[in-house]
Amino acid sequence: MLVTKQQALEDFRTLLGKDRVLTDEESLKFGEGYNRSYAKAYGVYSNPLPICILNAASKEELSKVMKYCNDNDVYVIPRTGNSSAEGLLEVRNESTVILDASMMNKIIGVDPDNMMVTCECGVPMERLENLVREKGLTTGHGPQSLPMADIGGLVATRSIGQFSTYYGGIEDMVCGLEAVMPNGEVVRIRSVPRRSSGPDLRHLFIGGEGAFGFITEVTLKLFPFYPDDMWMGGYKMKNMHDGFKALHEIMIKGYKPSVVRLYDKADMDYNFGSVKMKDDEAYMFFVCEGPREIAQITGEKIHEISVKAGGEFIGKEAVEHWMVHRNDLCKRYGNPKTAQEYRETKTMYATTEISASWTDIVKIYDDVMKNVTPKFPNLVMLGGHVSHSYINGTNIYFVYRLKLTSPETANDEHSELVYAICREVLKYPTGGCVHHHGMGKRRVQFAKQEHGTSYPLMVALKDTIDPRYIMNPGALIKSRGDSGLQTGIRMDILE
Ligand SMILES: Cc1cc2nc3c(=O)[nH]c(=O)nc-3n(C[C@H](O)[C@H](O)[C@H](O)COP(=O)(O)OP(=O)(O)OC[C@H]3O[C@@H](n4cnc5c(N)ncnc54)[C@H](O)[C@@H]3O)c2cc1C
Repeated sequence: MLVTKQQALEDFRTLLGKDRVLTDEESLKFGEGYNRSYAKAYGVYSNPLPICILNAASKEELSKVMKYCNDNDVYVIPRTGNSSAEGLLEVRNESTVILDASMMNKIIGVDPDNMMVTCECGVPMERLENLVREKGLTTGHGPQSLPMADIGGLVATRSIGQFSTYYGGIEDMVCGLEAVMPNGEVVRIRSVPRRSSGPDLRHLFIGGEGAFGFITEVTLKLFPFYPDDMWMGGYKMKNMHDGFKALHEIMIKGYKPSVVRLYDKADMDYNFGSVKMKDDEAYMFFVCEGPREIAQITGEKIHEISVKAGGEFIGKEAVEHWMVHRNDLCKRYGNPKTAQEYRETKTMYATTEISASWTDIVKIYDDVMKNVTPKFPNLVMLGGHVSHSYINGTNIYFVYRLKLTSPETANDEHSELVYAICREVLKYPTGGCVHHHGMGKRRVQFAKQEHGTSYPLMVALKDTIDPRYIMNPGALIKSRGDSGLQTGIRMDILE
């Protein structure tokens, strides 16, 4: 950093005004959101605190701050909803500011003729969805973190919603966007229906994890919403393998339900408990959307395939239960009861989402269950579910509860389990070790393996777009000067 911390604080106050520069300990300690919540429940904070949290209210302010930080080698972590996982917001160096744009929360315009909505980056996803629903429309984007996440973060993490099989992931929804680059320059990618004018520049920011620039404005697609015409159905399967087979057939025949989910018993028992199953059994369910005729015929065909695959139809009650409770987990975040529960049980719950082709996913599920379990005697529960399917494969959310030795070692113990899962996934040619939460500073350890021979392209992008490496150090690629040792994250995992 080329200025003293004191000088930087004074300069930020001049740029934004005193009340937008937060330096109180509480704000700084929780600046990186729910990362390392277990340790924090014991008052243990192992990451350096940022210099301050800066609240920006416009792209002009963002531009001024970014230029200042770029000129003075101050690291910048962009933030909007503060709901992300995987250490995305973790502070790795004390010369860092968290630049928050949740004040930029204007919905700029809904255009029903062209089925687009434009909004600022700090618009809460739930507010946007509620607004367009009043007009009979939907964004189609319903992540479990709907009540917590904002548009900027959702784009920057390449997020996906629970109705993705029909509407797509955020990458299918973003028409255009505006961003502030590290040197303060503002760039706009216009909202054209499709273009063939070279590589798609939207993708520098979709999934950019705040490592390339600050997204200020986003235009998303809209879809007609038919809530009264949804088809729902649930099936008990003999085992996960039969479930995978049924999902595979449904997808490769070209059916497009909005929700496609398959749970093993451990996951269902812990997360919903709404379907009672024997040990090896699985529960699979679907929601079909769209105009009534399409939803109905999709549902009927799914029913045929599911029953033929050995599924026992158990109606739609458990699906309706999921529809109502699907985002309940959000209530646990920021709730003092959760911290108390950590201390009482010494156990944390977390998830790791991966993806693979239809052929490899079954092997990965089996390998993780068989090989990871014995390596972690502290594992209280390991299960999984499928939640996002494609014609060429699907994802698995591995879910687990891990008893931890101490708050000081909790993050490393958690990371070891995540790494063990990633290693099983990356053994397979189509295995991707990050499906939708982002690499973050945890899984960036596997960036070289994940990208293979294309990894140098990622480094070249960073070198070009953020040559002073100020943006979210440790995201997407291992950063210069970031040993990782101070945070306990092992940077040598691949060596
Ligand atoms: C209970 C729970 C359920 C979840 N369910 C889902 C789910 O179903 N699907 C899913 O995809 N994710 C899910 N997540 C993860 C998380 O909600 C998403 O990653 C979400 O996209 C983060 O958005 P945010 O606004 O909270 O971003 P933040 O946490 O503020 O930031 C996330 C990342 O984006 C960067 N960033 C933020 N704003 C900007 C910006 N304007 N410009 C550039 N970079 C920016 C940050 O630097 C950081 O790297 C869940 C999380 C929780 C806690």
